[in-house]
Amino acid sequence: MSLRLVVCALAIFLASVFASSHCEAKSKRKASIGSVSERSSRSSGSRTSTSRARKSRDKSRHESRKKRRSRSRADNMPKGWTWPPSARMREAGKACLADLDALGIRWEKAPSVRKVATPITLDAMELGGVKLVSTYRKGPFVMDCQLALGLAHFAETLYGLGVREVQFSRIHDYTQVRVNGTVKQALSRHALGVAIDMRAFVDETGRKAVVLDDYPLGDELLLAIERALNESGGFRTVLTPSNDPASHDDHFHAEVQVDYARTTHTSSL
Ligand SMILES: [Zn+2]
Repeated sequence: MSLRLVVCALAIFLASVFASSHCEAKSKRKASIGSVSERSSRSSGSRTSTSRARKSRDKSRHESRKKRRSRSRADNMPKGWTWPPSARMREAGKACLADLDALGIRWEKAPSVRKVATPITLDAMELGGVKLVSTYRKGPFVMDCQLALGLAHFAETLYGLGVREVQFSRIHDYTQVRVNGTVKQALSRHALGVAIDMRAFVDETGRKAVVLDDYPLGDELLLAIERALNESGGFRTVLTPSNDPASHDDHFHAEVQVDYARTTHTSSL
């Protein structure tokens, strides 16, 4: 009897030990499965966040590229320039026309031209005794009033240097900036009607100084005109065969300074 009891107790004990170790193994397996699935979910989460980070990095790079591009485009516009023209630009245009009137320069209002704030044509292509002659294009030559005014002021200097005729190839043209042989993502000042390409100058003796042929030979008149344009303060840095031989070997590109951000108009050019 007692032996049966002992055997029975032993059997119960063994059964309980087996059950507990089995459970323990099962729960360990479960735990291990859990940690694997946790790891895998953690790693898939990190994959998702990595790709999200990459996407946002790409997006921000794209945005900054876009900003740089638009800034470079905006940078080439005169200060305060907007399109359509702001009230201040229209005011500056009116003041400019009044200045032309005061100088006795006859002008006509030109039909609207995109991006030209105050489009005009000159009745006579002559300013201060200096003729403006087109090398191959036919008129009428639309320009912004600001260019006419800037050239009118500079004509006095040209006349003083002995220049009686400026031969130009281009005034208004809806193009992009071209320097060092490449076209930039920026609207040219020609598109705004405030730039002129000057190819040759005829002096009082009738001698013609051609930028393409005579500038490389150190032509005194051409060098003096280049210096005067840069020193006048009325023009941005003039592009010539010396600072841009790839795109400006045959002409001087001059852009009148226009600052619409100033409270006063640009008649002081
Ligand atoms: Zn030009």
